[in-house]
Amino acid sequence: MFNLTKYQVVKAKCLEKSAQLVAVSKTRSVEELKELYSSGARAFGENRVQELLEKRKHLAQDIEWHLIGHLQSNKVKYIADFIHLIHSVDSIRLLVEIQKEAKKNDRVIAVLLQVHLAQEESKFGIKENELEDFMQNLLKLDLSHVQIQGMMTMASFTDDKEQIRSEFKKGKQLFTRIRTKYFAMDSAFNILSMGMSGDYEIALEEGSTMIRVGSLLFD
Ligand SMILES: *Cc1c(COP(=O)(O)O)cnc(C)c1O
Repeated sequence: MFNLTKYQVVKAKCLEKSAQLVAVSKTRSVEELKELYSSGARAFGENRVQELLEKRKHLAQDIEWHLIGHLQSNKVKYIADFIHLIHSVDSIRLLVEIQKEAKKNDRVIAVLLQVHLAQEESKFGIKENELEDFMQNLLKLDLSHVQIQGMMTMASFTDDKEQIRSEFKKGKQLFTRIRTKYFAMDSAFNILSMGMSGDYEIALEEGSTMIRVGSLLFD
C-alpha cells in the first residue's frame, strides 16, 4: 500500500537539497500508482519495458516515465515516442539505437550514462576503467537526437554505510570529471542519479541530484 507520510518525508528531503525524486513504481499495481499520482508524483520509474507499457495505458498522460533498468536495444522502439529519461545507457550499441528511434519519432531522447561502481559483479553499467574509451567512442557518433544529461550509478548492496558513502563520492567525482572534460559547454549535462530506498540520504549528502526511491514509499 502507498504510504503518503513516507512519500512526504522523502519529498521534503529532496526539496531541501533541490534534488528530484523519481518514484520507482516497478512491481506496484496501477491502483498504487494512481495514489502516488494523487499525492503529486509525476516522475515514475520502471525497470521493465513491458510492465511500463502496460501500466501507462491506465494512467494519466502527464506522467514522466523514467526507464531505470537494463534496456535491450530491440526494445527502444516501444518507448521512443514518450520516454522522459533513460537512466541505463551502458553501451554504444544502445546509444546508436536510441539515436535511430528518436530520429524516427522526431524527438530528442534524454539519457544518462550508467556507471558501475558497486562491488557486486554486474553485466550492466560502464566500468570506471572503461569510461574514457566509452567517451571516445561516443564522440564519434551522430547523436543529434540524443541528449546526454548526466550519469546514473548504484552503490553496493550492503549495510556498510561508509562503503556506500565512498562509492557515492566516487560517483560524484566521475560525474564532475566527465562533465568538465566532455560537457563543459553543455549545461544539459547536470543530472547525477544516485540513491535508492536504503541509501538515498547518503546519496543526497554526497551530491546526488536525482534519487530513485521505490519500496520505501510503500508498506
Ligand atoms: C528497483 C530500483 C530502484 C528502487 O529501489 P528501492 O530499493 O525499491 O528504492 C532504484 N534504481 C533501480 C535501477 C532499480 O532497479
